[in-house]
Amino acid sequence: MISDAVKEGLAPFVDSDTGKVNLLGLSDERMEAFFAVLGEKRFRAQQVMKWMHHRGAESIDDMTDISKKMRAILNDIAEIKAPEIVSQLESKDGTRKWVIRVAGGSCVETVFIPDGDRGTLCVSSQVGCSLDCSFCSTGKQGFMRDLSCAEIIGQVWLAAKSYDSLATNAKRRITNVVMMGMGEPLLNFDNVVDAMNLMRSDYGYGISKRRVTLSTSGVVNQLQRLSAVTDVSLAISLHAANDELRDQLVPINKKYPIAVLLDACRQYMADLPDSHRVTTVEYTLINGINDSMDQARELAVLLKDFPCKINLIPFNPFPLSDYTRPSKSAVYRFQTILIEAGFIAPIRTTRGDDIDAACGQLVGQVADKTKRSQRHRAAAEEKIRIITQA
Ligand code: SAH
Ligand code: SF4
Repeated sequence: MISDAVKEGLAPFVDSDTGKVNLLGLSDERMEAFFAVLGEKRFRAQQVMKWMHHRGAESIDDMTDISKKMRAILNDIAEIKAPEIVSQLESKDGTRKWVIRVAGGSCVETVFIPDGDRGTLCVSSQVGCSLDCSFCSTGKQGFMRDLSCAEIIGQVWLAAKSYDSLATNAKRRITNVVMMGMGEPLLNFDNVVDAMNLMRSDYGYGISKRRVTLSTSGVVNQLQRLSAVTDVSLAISLHAANDELRDQLVPINKKYPIAVLLDACRQYMADLPDSHRVTTVEYTLINGINDSMDQARELAVLLKDFPCKINLIPFNPFPLSDYTRPSKSAVYRFQTILIEAGFIAPIRTTRGDDIDAACGQLVGQVADKTKRSQRHRAAAEEKIRIITQA
């Protein structure tokens, strides 16, 4: 049915594991290019995207306004392959968490946090993370691999479907997406950019650029490439106001120290067409490590001329973690100093605590290539075992 020349043209779209094209992971441009190889117009690409992302189609045969002949061709060469849900948990506060098995058998997690009219989906970008921040459960488990674009956008797809928000006229529940799940998004640059573009696209999820946020621990060389390909919001994981302490908490700081990171953020913001946007600074407060009043003052001085909002995240403990959460009064003390210095500094209240869905508690299940920590991985695997039996 398909000529050799067409087959050759399709090669760049084919997943080497399955031998098929996963339509779910094709960005607008790639979907158009894919259909161009088949001799089809742009309209066809848009039609297929709307079926999957707006109406939640799970199979090519669902696409009833596409001719039977074209569906047969598509079935031959392509598929809609969504990530497999291992478990779905709902917290008392409405937070939902999915454990998802991705190709190769590892698991990642996705969390949905409802808050009034807002619904924020926290999406993973990698299986594990290679950056080894000392307070992060994902980092402690080592790194396995990057997620594909289909595996990243598949998290949005399944969360949206779970609320039936894809049905026409249904209220959109996912209003915001934060790339703050497992992994360092800038180390999976191309797939993350493609997936964020799909979140933004009218044929994808139509989320505005301000409401898609990429969070990075500071991979500056990749951050410098970002404004050329996207204009999403930016968050940085700072956690310390001086290099000596940040070197210990966020090891990539040894390569790209604080001043270099802040400059890269300034440049990213300057490159955006709308000039009044600010960087979100994430600061995880860890008892006795970075939560003193002096450290709050030091942070205020560091960020004096840096346009930002500071999100304070009380440390979330996980099995075998070396740190503890500060007392409420220590957190408020820290916040007050920042507010008095003129900053917007909300405390990110812990959500989904009872299902271990809070920041830094995402364990996934990582078949670690780096063999970093058998202990941490064993603890995470045990947790997954308990979750999946729940
Ligand atoms: N790799 C990216 C995005 C994932 S981490 C980054 O580091 O920015 C998302 C946020 O959760 C980061 O700000 C991270 O520092 C924070 N975090 C990680 N472990 C945590 C923990 N145990 N308690 C509280 N926050 C944590
Ligand atoms: Fe990786 Fe972010 Fe965790 Fe650091 S905080 S180990 S960069 S996921």
